[in-house]
Amino acid sequence: MTSALAAAPLPRPTTPRRCLEALLAGNHRFTGNTRRHPDPRTWTEAGRAPDPFAAVFSCADSRVAPELIFDCGLGDLVTVRSPGHAVDADVVAALERQMRRHRLPLLAVVGHQGCAAIAASLADRPQGATLRALDGSATSAGRGGADRCPAAPVLEQVVTERVRLSVHDLVEASPLVDAAVSAGTMAVVGLTFSLGTGEVAVVETLGALSGVPGARPSPPRRTGTTRLPGSPRPPATATF
Ligand SMILES: [Zn+2]
Repeated sequence: MTSALAAAPLPRPTTPRRCLEALLAGNHRFTGNTRRHPDPRTWTEAGRAPDPFAAVFSCADSRVAPELIFDCGLGDLVTVRSPGHAVDADVVAALERQMRRHRLPLLAVVGHQGCAAIAASLADRPQGATLRALDGSATSAGRGGADRCPAAPVLEQVVTERVRLSVHDLVEASPLVDAAVSAGTMAVVGLTFSLGTGEVAVVETLGALSGVPGARPSPPRRTGTTRLPGSPRPPATATF
């Protein structure tokens, strides 16, 4: 059930680490069925002036709805979506436009279990320009061969790798993101979403996320999963 009417508004997080904690806490509420949103009390406030605390770049899959899986309200998140969270010029432009309008301490890339867009690219069935770009960047592991989708465990490994790639692609493609990460005013985190449990798991971090086990301040790319102390434990799917 939704406990929105009984809950006091949460303070707006202002640091990359607090923003990540807020997303993970929201996902914990989502999976625990203790959601705060939708909260009608926030609608008027959102109508006055949006004040998002994070940008979420996710797959366009209808089951991966950022405001739902992170239990956020209107105006809390900037969302940009593309099939398979493939990074292209339009994605970068959309994110940079929002970064110029809002102070966004966190950029989260969200991939998901059973991603049909990535499966299609691996099976040599690209669907449009975006997936053609994805096809060219997600071939390092798990290609099942022409006209054949990869097995589920292989696909989940590729999804996790693709999330990591998208994190680094964004930093490399966007001078604005790169500068913000270098300045410590923004961090980028890669997350995977389990359709089975509703939980997200951290699979990559870049930038000012001190205290996150294994976090690095800058590239090269990291491997392995990590978790904020005290945050919900990642689901089993975090270890694909
Ligand atoms: Zn997908």
